[in-house]
Amino acid sequence: MNIVLLGAPGAGKGTQAEKLVDVHDIAHISTGNILRAAVKAETPLGLEAKSYMDAGELVPDSVVIGLVKERLEEEDTEKGFILDGFPRTATQAVALASELDKLGRGIDFAIAVKVSHDVIVERLSSRRLCRACGYIGNALDKNCPICGDVMYQRDDDTPETIRNRLEVYEKSTAPLIDYYRGADLLVEVDGEKDPDEVFIQIQKMLAH
Ligand code: AMP
Repeated sequence: MNIVLLGAPGAGKGTQAEKLVDVHDIAHISTGNILRAAVKAETPLGLEAKSYMDAGELVPDSVVIGLVKERLEEEDTEKGFILDGFPRTATQAVALASELDKLGRGIDFAIAVKVSHDVIVERLSSRRLCRACGYIGNALDKNCPICGDVMYQRDDDTPETIRNRLEVYEKSTAPLIDYYRGADLLVEVDGEKDPDEVFIQIQKMLAH
């Protein structure tokens, strides 16, 4: 099963992606995670991406498309994949379709996780992550409830950057919901519910 996960920052894409990966045993491709790892390792990709990410802007299409193409060529994606945070622009969506076509593959579902702006701002401001295992929690979690390591706040989860990321989402990414609806691939879920309930909704829709 090949899935695209759409939704504003903070909609819960990462959390749902982890659950889908566990149940369906498919590859998790998060462009945000790949970019953050590159920034941390100070690779040329990371050095190029950092200023865009810190400002809440999108990293240029050519860079992100290149890294997704490379990732899709890895063997573990043959059993299926979930794209989390990609595509984010029309150019990326078209490049993805053409790359998958070349590989003789296609998207089975585009899942849109819908959450209001107020809830997103609240969630992102209090979001905390585990350095060791990637668990996504909130400001109440001083230590990771899964592995006990220290939780941290992402550099781009600050009020000003959050506002910019939401604007960028509305302008560049939200139109992709119509793109996938037009291709008859869209399923929509209410992302304001508890994450386990959201996952149940997703599973039901994928089973149809
Ligand atoms: P995320 O973890 O998905 O919220 O992504 C964090 C940041 O990485 C975004 O705000 C962008 O700066 C960058 N990024 C992640 N995915 C993409 C993408 N598909 N296109 C452009 N920039 C991206």
